[in-house]
Amino acid sequence: MKIGIIGAGFTGLSAGYNLVKDGHQVTIFEKDPHPGGLAIGYQEKGWEWSLEKHYHHWFTNDESVLRLAKDISYDVLIKRPRTSAYVNGTIYQLDSPLHVLSFPELPLFDRLRMSAVLASLRYNPYWQPLERINASTFLPKVMGEKAYQMIWEPLLVNKFGSYAGSVSLAWFWARIKKRTASLAYPKKGFLPFAQAVVAAIEKQGGKIHFSSEINELKDTAQVHLVVKHGKESTSYTFDRVIVTTPSFLFLKFALQLPESYKAKLAKLKGLGAINIVLRLKNDFFSDNTYWLSICDKNSPIMAIVEHTHFMDKKYYNNEHLVYLGNYLPHTHRYFTLNKTELLKEYDQYLRKINPSYEKSLIGFEMFQAPFAQPVIPVNYSKMLPPFETPLAHVFLANIEQVYPWDRGTNYAVELGESIARIITKQS
Ligand SMILES: Cc1cc2nc3c(=O)[nH]c(=O)nc-3n(C[C@H](O)[C@H](O)[C@H](O)COP(=O)(O)OP(=O)(O)OC[C@H]3O[C@@H](n4cnc5c(N)ncnc54)[C@H](O)[C@@H]3O)c2cc1C
Repeated sequence: MKIGIIGAGFTGLSAGYNLVKDGHQVTIFEKDPHPGGLAIGYQEKGWEWSLEKHYHHWFTNDESVLRLAKDISYDVLIKRPRTSAYVNGTIYQLDSPLHVLSFPELPLFDRLRMSAVLASLRYNPYWQPLERINASTFLPKVMGEKAYQMIWEPLLVNKFGSYAGSVSLAWFWARIKKRTASLAYPKKGFLPFAQAVVAAIEKQGGKIHFSSEINELKDTAQVHLVVKHGKESTSYTFDRVIVTTPSFLFLKFALQLPESYKAKLAKLKGLGAINIVLRLKNDFFSDNTYWLSICDKNSPIMAIVEHTHFMDKKYYNNEHLVYLGNYLPHTHRYFTLNKTELLKEYDQYLRKINPSYEKSLIGFEMFQAPFAQPVIPVNYSKMLPPFETPLAHVFLANIEQVYPWDRGTNYAVELGESIARIITKQS
């Protein structure tokens, strides 16, 4: 079959890779000049490797994406970087049961209680009963108010803002269940990895058009796409089309969709992401922390991630690279600030953690993604859009259908595999 795919993020790339292997004629359209979507990377002058615009790693149990890397003979590095939490103005390593049990900010009883809750979630295989429960009502009841208010409430609030109270326990379960202490990373970065998948697709006859944005999709006996490349527009026709963009973008270019379906998709809520990447001459964290969760509801930053405490700084011209991460509604005023104004918002807080970081600043960049994190409320399975859409030859496979797992490139690859299987079965 002749198949068009909208988007060269990991869902589109995985769908394309599997469909060309199944013998289909595949064409992928990507509005950006490079593949990778939310996991896209960039490279400063003098760097040997590229860096993701938004921090990225894999867990060692991210089987689908690790299998894809193996399939195309792409090297993956595995390391065990330090994960910490910032609590009451101090950084605590908190990445093993032993660290949780010896965490000095909580009395022993609360530590034991919290450890028992985390362990029971981790070893529970059933997410379905949990999706009916609200994380913010369940967690303080079972692990105790003290532990919840000190660690988990600030994390939920910093990540989901005004949606924090509606997040389902199934989302929390997925985060605890999938976490591994060791992490994986594609050698040279996610961009070269995405480019290697593109090369594998092209080798089998697939086509990828970059800087090509879908402006219009119409389904009659076949699917017609109007694609904008620069100032030109071209029409293409396919037997099947897979849409991998977030749902709100699908609604923009598929005007034929019935109102009832549009209303259903419009109920799905999501947050945008803003990341600043600092390039420093020296370490930001003196204790080799890679990931710092900020357990403070008043912090202007959600997490600080020192990438070069995971991957060696030698690949980045010996620069120390640090993300200042935030998830926010796309209407938040931070989205209107330029990079200097945003860093100014963070500056005072950053100085509390590293008073002299600014002296070692080489430069910094800011990256924004208007839709980056779906909000998963209770009973999300009832809201989950199916792959099939009201348009007979058009399928939806996007970040909002990754459930019960939290979004990630592993699940994007899994989604691409599932949609390819469905289409191949129909052919
Ligand atoms: C801050 C942050 C941190 C993250 N951390 C991790 C992590 O550590 N590990 C991990 O595995 N994942 C992580 N993720 C999630 C991961 O990046 C996503 O889940 C995954 O990349 C989603 O892939 P996708 O292909 O489904 O969607 P996307 O990556 O969004 O791909 C959709 C593609 O469609 C293109 N597009 C949109 N509109 C059009 C149009 N009209 N025409 C043509 N093309 C169009 C877009 O440019 C994009 O390339 C993170 C994400 C963010 C934002």
